[in-house]
Amino acid sequence: MVDTPLFPNAFFEGEFVPIDQAKVSVATHALQYGTGCFGGIRGYLDHDGSTINIFRLPDHTRRLLQSGMLLRAQLPYSAGDVAGIITELVRRNAPSQNVYIRPFIYKAGLELTPRLSGVRDQLAVYMLPLNDYLDLNTPLRLMVSSWQRIEDNIIPSRAKITGGYINSSLAKDQAAEGGFDDAILLNREGKVSEGSGANLFIVRNGALVTSPITADILEGITRRSLVEFARDAGVTVEERAIDRSELYIAEEAFLCGTGVQIAGVGSIDGRPIGNGERGPITARMQDTFFSLVHGEESPYRRYLTRVTIG
Ligand code: PMP
Repeated sequence: MVDTPLFPNAFFEGEFVPIDQAKVSVATHALQYGTGCFGGIRGYLDHDGSTINIFRLPDHTRRLLQSGMLLRAQLPYSAGDVAGIITELVRRNAPSQNVYIRPFIYKAGLELTPRLSGVRDQLAVYMLPLNDYLDLNTPLRLMVSSWQRIEDNIIPSRAKITGGYINSSLAKDQAAEGGFDDAILLNREGKVSEGSGANLFIVRNGALVTSPITADILEGITRRSLVEFARDAGVTVEERAIDRSELYIAEEAFLCGTGVQIAGVGSIDGRPIGNGERGPITARMQDTFFSLVHGEESPYRRYLTRVTIG
């Protein structure tokens, strides 16, 4: 297995350093106990070839700090400070392709006790080149996982907590080993929660339906954006509990998130969704999103932080 090459500059322990110097001790609390939280942010190369359009940067840094609050992180940075560090890092790395930016707040102390308060925190940021990692032209084959989504009273599920991703990994492996592209996890109530690393929408009777933020989902920024895009386009959006059986009779379904972007679902547990092709609402959401992030005229241009490179 080959590691993805990273961009040469990172932010680590309060300064910009070459990526090779962004190293932690093997005794680091976050490494031992999963006591970190992270963000995942995309920057898209604009049509003009000299701008990186970062999608909803302030929303991502705000969520990162909220995840940090749940871990009782004490850091001297505001959400605006973290956004400033990220734009400066993009400038320094001057990418000429689409990128993925990974800010990470972590318990950096070396103490042995698994606890949250009183352990030193740090912020690190690194980035890598990233194009589509799922083929957006091939509808996804999903399964309902036998793994249950972590719940708020176990590991806060609305936060992107490092240790919580063991849950995602278990479901993802199970799906891959069964010949599927990804998994849908149900929550403790047996209601639909989300994908292993993405939120889920279905279409029923022409309305777009997605699980509420109290269904043990990550509070996805792409999800929130699509709710807005759909309502503006006159599509009815329902945020409500979704039963498993609704998945099998949905007219359309798609996963959405920073990594997967917006990926249409062709089947769930082997049952075709709609006619198995990309549905009209899925197509509309993809078109609105991709034209925005690539810098075309869009009513949502305010969601881009435009960083000039080169
Ligand atoms: N759920 C999970 C578990 C995720 O890891 C992600 C990706 N961050 C999402 C949903 C989608 O969130 P966002 O749109 O903010 O990337």
